[in-house]
Amino acid sequence: MSHAVWFYVTLICGNCGAEVHDGESNLHTPGLLPDPVDRITRENDLIEAEPIDFPEAYFEIGKPEQGGEVRALEQWSCPICNAVQWARLEFRQEDAEHFRFIKAQTVALTPEILRHMHYASRRLEFWVQDHPGPESDRLREVLGAVWRSSHSGAPERKK
Ligand SMILES: [Zn+2]
Repeated sequence: MSHAVWFYVTLICGNCGAEVHDGESNLHTPGLLPDPVDRITRENDLIEAEPIDFPEAYFEIGKPEQGGEVRALEQWSCPICNAVQWARLEFRQEDAEHFRFIKAQTVALTPEILRHMHYASRRLEFWVQDHPGPESDRLREVLGAVWRSSHSGAPERKK
């Protein structure tokens, strides 16, 4: 997929315990940067992103505080056991046009964790569709308002 940001970090698989490095985790977010090419970012790197870029790339669950921590949930997969799972990405805004990628770590996908995020991967919608059940229903509740607004046919905000 073009113009994605790849997060090169070390993640621990929540299923088999493997230590997964750099691009092996497949941890990336499409559409976060307007660049026509993929970017690789490592912990503490700056990325050229503006606040408006985050709701373009992710579902917006809550607005981050000005200058505060920005938390996003993104999907990754273990190359050893193939378990599809989730990572919490942490950013901090440095100025009007830059964010610093602070770190990423594996998290369990629960409604409580989702509620704590500002942004969530677009892949979450497919996950919930593929995993019907009470837990997915609770995730759906957290995302309900976001999905309704994104599916209502309202005009998309253009840059
Ligand atoms: Zn694994």
